Amino acid sequence: MANNGFERPQRVQFDAQDYQTDTLAVRAGQHRTDEGEHSDPIYPTSSFVFSSAREAAARFSGAEPGNIYSRFTNPTVRAFEQRMAALEQGERAVATSSGMAAVLSLALALLQQGDHVVCSRSVFGSTVSLFDKYLSRTGIRTSFVDPTDLAAWEAALEPQTKLLFLETPSNPLGELTDIRAVADIAHRHGAKLVVDNCFLSPALQKPLTLGADVVMHSATKYIDGQGRCVGGVLVGSDKDMEEVFGFLRTAGTTMSPFNAWVFLKGLETLPIRMRAHSESALALANWLEQQPGIKRVYYPGLLSHPQHPLALAQQAGFGGVLSFEVEGDREAAWRFIDATRMLSITANLGDVKSTITHPGTTTHGRMSPEARAAAGIGDNLIRLSVGLEDLQDLKGDLALGLAAL
Ligand SMILES: *Cc1c(COP(=O)(O)O)cnc(C)c1O
Repeated sequence: MANNGFERPQRVQFDAQDYQTDTLAVRAGQHRTDEGEHSDPIYPTSSFVFSSAREAAARFSGAEPGNIYSRFTNPTVRAFEQRMAALEQGERAVATSSGMAAVLSLALALLQQGDHVVCSRSVFGSTVSLFDKYLSRTGIRTSFVDPTDLAAWEAALEPQTKLLFLETPSNPLGELTDIRAVADIAHRHGAKLVVDNCFLSPALQKPLTLGADVVMHSATKYIDGQGRCVGGVLVGSDKDMEEVFGFLRTAGTTMSPFNAWVFLKGLETLPIRMRAHSESALALANWLEQQPGIKRVYYPGLLSHPQHPLALAQQAGFGGVLSFEVEGDREAAWRFIDATRMLSITANLGDVKSTITHPGTTTHGRMSPEARAAAGIGDNLIRLSVGLEDLQDLKGDLALGLAAL
């Protein structure tokens, strides 16, 4: 863990374990150069030069550590990786070009032909397609299960099962999975548990401390927090991350130094943003539950959420995403969305700007109507990613939607 620390110019090492999340988000992984810059430096360079032919040979053979080429390593990307490893309390992180590149890199690094994966059916749509449509071509099979049903996880295991994959809370209905319980199921069968921690970020949930083996993120969401860059990251053991790094330096699913720098800046405000997102989302969820025209609100922070006690047990906050059903059908949901004035109509989430989405015809539009119904995603469902605008202004905008029902 020593390399998760931050350094003075004199290169005194600090240990990440000695500091809290808010401090690590601001300081972990920073390596000041001799210039003494206070903000993180950025290294937009594709390759690195050597002082001699002998040094070049030593770097390429691995006899000496050091940068060679930014498809392999880059100091800005490394700073981001070290900060993420410190925040998730993992041994090592590997940054990728997108969240989906993280899933792909992990699967191809840790799995081989004949291996089997058990995956929550309520994961990000492209994650389902990646396992179901593309990784299946390499002979990696995947079974999908109800993420809230521990018996279903257990029942789906096969002798070849190597990986269990889940996302909690899920999108868009905020279903939770008991991370520790599924980690125990995985470990009893010699398999590993991967948790997509995108919706809460390490500020509100640390799956590795609950027994997960690998955490993945779409950094595109809350880690950036301001909707600027696409990126991803994996955190886990040195051994697993070395496998992932080997794949990534070969396949080129690498994060760019510019994006890593933007994500470093995003991380500095992550804990304080997550608290503000959570506070407003809880207030709006409670308010929406009282409004005529609203049939049901889905948010783990609500007492009416069937897994509210689990949220209290494994999360340090409830997050910024909620969804709700309006009285009526798809037309009513669309009327609600179109009547709002300030909310951004977009499928993205995790931004300081609040966004409103109709999952049934956008993020989940490619599912069959039957699969959508089975997942509980009705035509009258609306998802809200609550940003950092004033709470009264957000209520005012939603009131316009309610008046249009
Ligand atoms: C967006 C998202 C992804 C994919 O990330 P990209 O950066 O868009 O590739 C994966 N998981 C979750 C939960 C997401 O929201």
